Amino acid sequence: MKPFRYERATDVPSAVALLAEQPHGAFLAGGTNLVDLMKLEVATPEALVDVRRATSDRIEELPDGGLRIGAAVTNSELAADRTVRRRYPMLSQAVLAGASGQVRNLATTGGNLLQRTRCVYFQDTTTPCNKRDPGSGCSALDGYHRELAILGSSPACVATNPSDMAVALAALDAVVHLQGPLGERVIPLTEFHRLPGAEPERDTVIEHGELITAVDVPPLAMMTRSTYRKVRDRASYAFALVSVAAALEVTDGVVADVRLALGGVAHKPWRAWIAEEALRGARVSTESFQAAADAELAAARPLPGNAFKVPLARNVIVHSLGDLAEFHQLGEELR
Ligand SMILES: Cc1cc2nc3c(=O)[nH]c(=O)nc-3n(C[C@H](O)[C@H](O)[C@H](O)COP(=O)(O)OP(=O)(O)OC[C@H]3O[C@@H](n4cnc5c(N)ncnc54)[C@H](O)[C@@H]3O)c2cc1C
Ligand code: SF4
Repeated sequence: MKPFRYERATDVPSAVALLAEQPHGAFLAGGTNLVDLMKLEVATPEALVDVRRATSDRIEELPDGGLRIGAAVTNSELAADRTVRRRYPMLSQAVLAGASGQVRNLATTGGNLLQRTRCVYFQDTTTPCNKRDPGSGCSALDGYHRELAILGSSPACVATNPSDMAVALAALDAVVHLQGPLGERVIPLTEFHRLPGAEPERDTVIEHGELITAVDVPPLAMMTRSTYRKVRDRASYAFALVSVAAALEVTDGVVADVRLALGGVAHKPWRAWIAEEALRGARVSTESFQAAADAELAAARPLPGNAFKVPLARNVIVHSLGDLAEFHQLGEELR
């Protein structure tokens, strides 16, 4: 590991000011991703500004009925929060589907959003990788790409975003609060992460020195009946091959409203806008769920080693919606 300086910020202004002085520095939160990448010399910051005590570690009610999640709230605290579990079960389920209890105890909301891809070449400094070393090439295209993207990729990079939490937040219409040297910004989660295009080294729209201070989730009654389903190679300690965050509102057998986002399929959490559009006003049926999934996945451009993800994503979408529809049916019968 390369030597680095360490400083601890006590509040948001001092965190921003400290990093502004360090063009080759980075914020440090739980360290569960950044420190691993430093050991591999994939990340080589000259200075770390520890922000664990600078940002809020609380989950607060907003006046409109939504929630504000401080950037330093740990993944464990977020998943266990009673209000989150009751009002936004997909968020609690998504966080619990990630990592392990020990990692979640350290990992924070801010750090989770900025964790880097698990593409094996990105983590191996002996191989070409445009994300780690721009212009060097993409080893995954003709190499190992089983876990990588089927939607929105580019010839420069086919990596996937590894976060489970971000998939739920994309479906929830969450917004990210940033504080930087030039002031505050609020960015919808769906616009926070980028597609790779010609600049795969940039995962998000965040600028150097901008600190995530909080994430807001708006109130949405239908989210009390929401779900997160993750398919992976092992039952725990594995990243998603495909995941689906879904919520469904049904009135008289017709889809009144729906939220759908996919993980493990793209460089960013993939909000399934096309499928949502196809579903609103459609009769609840396996056929309409399949048609919506097909419409979303028509843009898929898999590689030979991950073509299996297209039917897998279709099946997980259809089954997640089917479970929610059955739940509605049961609710109506019990009423
Ligand atoms: C073995 C293992 C398995 C895992 N499995 C999963 C999984 O299945 N699903 C999943 O979603 N995740 C998984 N993770 C990832 C884990 O969730 C992340 O490592 C964690 O969420 C990162 O949070 P952190 O606070 O430790 O971030 P850090 O490692 O401290 O930081 C990560 C990045 O965020 C930046 N950063 C941190 N806080 C802020 C802030 N407030 N503002 C601006 N920048 C900031 C840092 O500079 C760094 O670039 C796994 C991790 C491990 C080690
Ligand atoms: S897919 Fe992206 S992260 Fe992986 S080797 Fe190619 S450029 Fe690097």
